[in-house]
Amino acid sequence: MSDYSYIGERLAEIKATLKAGVNLVAVSKTHPVEALQAAYNEGQRIFGENKVQEMTMKQELLPKDIEWHFIGHVQRNKIKYMAPYVSVIQGVDNFEKLVEINKQAAKYNRNIKCLLQIHVATEETKFGFTPEECLNMLETSAWADLPNVTIAGVMGMASFTDNMEQVRAEFEQLVTLFNTIKRRYFAEVDTFTMISAGMSDDYHIAMDCGSNLVRIGSSIFGARDYSK
Ligand SMILES: *Cc1c(COP(=O)(O)O)cnc(C)c1O
Repeated sequence: MSDYSYIGERLAEIKATLKAGVNLVAVSKTHPVEALQAAYNEGQRIFGENKVQEMTMKQELLPKDIEWHFIGHVQRNKIKYMAPYVSVIQGVDNFEKLVEINKQAAKYNRNIKCLLQIHVATEETKFGFTPEECLNMLETSAWADLPNVTIAGVMGMASFTDNMEQVRAEFEQLVTLFNTIKRRYFAEVDTFTMISAGMSDDYHIAMDCGSNLVRIGSSIFGARDYSK
């Protein structure tokens, strides 16, 4: 039996540092359901996972009022497995995936919130639309014909670097794009609201720049062991 009592303490510490209006996604990937249950018992209701199979297994075992956010790279053929329950799919990086999410959500009579993942980092390995690709996609208006998805905001990851000025500039770029998109395409509705940015090491900077959804894993649950 492992002792997960540290989780409640860490969660409380982090929550105390969040600005008003900022929501916390507890990123629980690789950690066992007991660790998530410990966070749940302390009141945490939003969890983030990056593997569909792992998230679905946990979803089946844990209380049903949890809001599941998929924060990984979205593979089209796996969307169907999370469609019955997922609240937010954070990593949508092309129009075809929105179409597939819409199709799968419709089967369950659901509406799934999607965040457009924007490539703001310098690394080539990070997925996402370039700002220009994203605006081009929205300009077609085809997304407006997908009744079972709601485009609810943007998501981004900063470069993996010690240069905090660069990290700040990348988050600022994300927030600027969010504002542009909101003004151009969502000015009349209140559904486009989420700016998902910031992880354990950079969420303070992300909040400074305007993030209202931070995704924090290791600071809550500890280091991840990928060998298990
Ligand atoms: C793992 C992960 C996080 C959490 O990272 P930590 O550094 O452990 O806080 C946040 N966002 C994404 C997309 C992740 O894959």
